[in-house]
Amino acid sequence: MQATSIQYLKGIGPKRKKSFSDKGINTIEDLLYYFPRRYEDRTNFSNISGLKDGEIYTIKTQVLAGGQRNSWRRRSFSITEAVLVDKTGKINCVWFNQPYLKEYLKPGVSLILYGKVEIYNGRMQMNNPEFEFLDSEDVDSLNIGRIVPIYTLPKGFSQRSMRHLIKGALDEFMPKVKDYLPFDLRSRNNLLNLAQSLINIHFPQDLILQKQALLRLSFEEFFIFQLPLVLRKLKRKEKKGVSHIVNGKLVEDFISRLPFKLTLGQQKVLAEIKSDMASAQAMQRLLQGDVGSGKTVVATLACLMSIQGGYQAAFMAPTEILSRQHYAKITSQLSGLTFNGRKLRVGLLISQDKEKERIYQEVKEGKIDLIIGTHALLQEGLRFKSLGFIVIDEQHKFGVGQRALLPKKGNNPDVLIMTATPIPRTLAITLYGDLDISVINELPAGRIPVKTLHFSQQDKEKGFALARQELEHGRQAYIIYPVIEESYALDIAGAKKMFAELKEGGFKNFRLGLVHGKLKTKEQEEVMLKFRNKELDLLVSTTILEVGIDIPNATCMIVAHAERFGLSQLHQLRGRIGRGSLQSFCVLISDAQTDEAKARLRAMVLSSDGFRISEEDLRIRGPGEFFGQRQHGLTELKIANPLTQLQLLKKAREEALRLISEDNNLTLHQHIQLKERLFQRFPEYESFMAVA
Ligand code: ADP
Ligand code: MG
Repeated sequence: MQATSIQYLKGIGPKRKKSFSDKGINTIEDLLYYFPRRYEDRTNFSNISGLKDGEIYTIKTQVLAGGQRNSWRRRSFSITEAVLVDKTGKINCVWFNQPYLKEYLKPGVSLILYGKVEIYNGRMQMNNPEFEFLDSEDVDSLNIGRIVPIYTLPKGFSQRSMRHLIKGALDEFMPKVKDYLPFDLRSRNNLLNLAQSLINIHFPQDLILQKQALLRLSFEEFFIFQLPLVLRKLKRKEKKGVSHIVNGKLVEDFISRLPFKLTLGQQKVLAEIKSDMASAQAMQRLLQGDVGSGKTVVATLACLMSIQGGYQAAFMAPTEILSRQHYAKITSQLSGLTFNGRKLRVGLLISQDKEKERIYQEVKEGKIDLIIGTHALLQEGLRFKSLGFIVIDEQHKFGVGQRALLPKKGNNPDVLIMTATPIPRTLAITLYGDLDISVINELPAGRIPVKTLHFSQQDKEKGFALARQELEHGRQAYIIYPVIEESYALDIAGAKKMFAELKEGGFKNFRLGLVHGKLKTKEQEEVMLKFRNKELDLLVSTTILEVGIDIPNATCMIVAHAERFGLSQLHQLRGRIGRGSLQSFCVLISDAQTDEAKARLRAMVLSSDGFRISEEDLRIRGPGEFFGQRQHGLTELKIANPLTQLQLLKKAREEALRLISEDNNLTLHQHIQLKERLFQRFPEYESFMAVA
């Protein structure tokens, strides 16, 4: 069924094949793993007389009369209306812009409706309900008298034709299908077998079996997702890396010169990193910590551990501004430190660098100890003399593939991956299953949580007044706009125009700067530098400020059109203030309309804890959206949900660990199907296993 093309099925010509492949369905297996979007219980229908306002129902009706009118608003806009009845009453239905419906809504025709009932002046109505026409021979078929699957339809298909097709494929392929989850694993976890699961996910005998099918198929997704992670972790532990000298003069000197004491959280994480780096196994550690928790210092210390043993270190950041900031800060922190009788050398590498060749040369000869830069560090031309340690900052900004490139420039160097979008530990362990995980769970002492306020557009002056007040006290502020150029269509203000307006208007007594992604890097830097040197009071910006910028004197941020930003993004932006010992204010200006946007703003006002925020963000957006395309595998989850099925995910991980520890190359005969399945989903593992 994996290899059998969908064209094997009757009625699938080139045209339908195309619309299937648009939905990612190419084989019979794809089809059977194309799960219903929802179900309708068509064993019992609601009576029209019993319908309540605002509730969603499935009802079985007959057309009494139908008609169509063109809307007076626009000629191209049509409304199709019908009066439908059952034995108990009447309901009106309205469809917008589906004029062809009129042809079908002939008196006497039966159809099933699914939608929300609204009552106007005592009359019941459904607006744009989903519908399905019934044939006379439909009594006791796939479409009625049972729990019926509803699919997201490929182009040119009806619900009925999909059901028919899937039922046909199930009947033909299920009797001979082999389950790739081993029998003992299934029985240990009370999982339904594959055939039963696929049958009941499409055509559930009852809701209990549907649940069991869902459980088994979710487990399977998690399991296939965990296997490679577990495998990778295991293989890594077998490889020999660098044993670093973790306690030495360089590290001690650095700590003793810091203007602050490391927090307990930083110390704990540092101890974990030390023990990893001292060992000969290659480290792959994820460092989670809220914005401002002080990850960079920890990472810098780890670089020094590498350097004091004679190895180079690389520090990769997602943007140029951030790379330069890290470079400036780290250079100043390291100035005066000596090692083997010479000064440490730090280099900066970004894409358009004129001095690229010189830097390549110096890195190759080992003259540069620490190289900081953007993804320019991944360039072919950059070779190291002896790369021993790598930091990847804000990992979510890099793809998994990119992340894997840098370590190849050394001989199994230790890797520290940092993220300021922390997720709950249990979830992190399972999702980043190939990494070890450290968490900095506190902010440096003396930080006062940022006060976050939400104002409507109408009240935005109040927010500006707050900013002015801060500026009058000698502090600085940011105003963030979602776009550079304003959009009249969307009615949103842009940074450029607002900069001009604010400069002449409400902030004319202050020094304003403007920074956005369309400026040349050099211009961006000049503005940032001026702001850093307090030559500017107010910085008007786009989200280019999102990550990392560290200016403690900035105590106020106004975010315009805050509804247009994601929750984690808002939290990152807010992380640009509250970095010193002063009370900071974040003002969100928004007339949020949707429930989602309102929920995001509420979360921002209520919490300043990055863990809580990202949990909430995950909940609002769901894992696929939250992690985005970059996190391999997650977006492929079709029915499993790591948020609601965390226990199942943990179980899947335990089982993956167990299986790999018993049979690390999946060579046992009971694992052959599983191995095939794994390679089919993750072809890159074929070569990976071969080198075992
Ligand atoms: P992150 O990268 O986790 O967002 P940073 O490493 O940029 O955080 O640290 C934020 C600010 O806090 C920096 O200015 C840094 O120098 C400072 N900092 C780091 N650790 C401490 C500490 N233990 N006590 C006081 N300030 C600290
Ligand atoms: Mg950082």
